[in-house]
Amino acid sequence: MARNILIVDDSLTIRSSLEYCLKEAGFNVVAAVDGIDGIEKLKSMKSSGGSPSVIITDVNMPRMDGIAFTENVKKSSFRGTPS
Ligand SMILES: [Mg+2]
Repeated sequence: MARNILIVDDSLTIRSSLEYCLKEAGFNVVAAVDGIDGIEKLKSMKSSGGSPSVIITDVNMPRMDGIAFTENVKKSSFRGTPS
């Protein structure tokens, strides 16, 4: 079964580096540019049946930071997902 990971980071360099390493390790990776995009990506992953096993998030991001994003995740159906 494919293992999915959601990366949330406003830095293209960080996103690209993590995506490269995790894909090399056999994970499916979805990347989001900030917390709001992260929530949208979670919704689309859920509707396509590819919910993430793990969420890796930055803290400092525009629009919605990693703290607010994590608080939203913990109030959602993804509350049990390690992040
Ligand atoms: Mg940042």
